Amino acid sequence: MLTAETRMVIKLSSTLKDKKLIILDCDGVLWRAETAIPGAADAIRRIRDANRKVVFLTNNSTKTRKDYVKKMRKFGIEASEKEIITSAYAASIYIRENFGEGVYAYVIGEKGLYNELKQAGVRIASEKDCIAGKVEVVVVGLDRGFNYRKLRYAMEALKRGAKFIATNMDPTLPTPKGEIPGAGSMVMALSTCSGRKPDIVIGKPNPAIVKLALKIWNANPSDAIIVGDRLDTDIAVAKICRCTSVLVLTGVTKREHLENSKIRPDIIVESIADLPRFLID
Ligand SMILES: [Mg+2]
Repeated sequence: MLTAETRMVIKLSSTLKDKKLIILDCDGVLWRAETAIPGAADAIRRIRDANRKVVFLTNNSTKTRKDYVKKMRKFGIEASEKEIITSAYAASIYIRENFGEGVYAYVIGEKGLYNELKQAGVRIASEKDCIAGKVEVVVVGLDRGFNYRKLRYAMEALKRGAKFIATNMDPTLPTPKGEIPGAGSMVMALSTCSGRKPDIVIGKPNPAIVKLALKIWNANPSDAIIVGDRLDTDIAVAKICRCTSVLVLTGVTKREHLENSKIRPDIIVESIADLPRFLID
């Protein structure tokens, strides 16, 4: 006798076979910090060989897409920059589309964010620009050199009417040495002093980053699967965007977390190594 849950998985896996876009979270799915998840590179190869498009999507704004290409290569995964969407890249595209090229942005963030913004034609504003009211957007991502001065000038720009854009609201991020403060901590510091919430948050669980992936690859939500290790970001954004969700158990979420969660993935697999059999005949 099949259990109801098993029947559900069988039904869903038959519908997974016509999905053309596979959106993969990175940390916790392909690797954990500097250690590859066994079978990840092979799984991606098999999914691609079956003519599915693979896209890598991460909330991390500190690295450039080039950095990700290099990191993936180290783990045996070949990827082009076009296949990688970071919250920094998605923020830069959002700003270009909504404010135009040449817009002045005051930035709290690291290299990944600065480089993507510059590549998109955004001008990096100075402290003087903040006071002069020249800044149209303040962009906040994870900044391990965050300090009072940056907070102060970002606040000045917001006071003078700049829009407030957050790459993501992750409170912390996991590292081999334990959790460290995430971009959300810096966003909340600016929220506190400015009395404003971000006008838009780009990263998961907000839909902007997924919408960009769907647009680039010309896919409908019903064509796409989102694979991730976190219920509150990856699976939540899949639900919001009406994409099919697949949870892997190689990252943050363990089986016991599922019992108390209102957010339910459509499918649960132990690891990305198990994914091809759901997607391919
Ligand atoms: Mg993850």
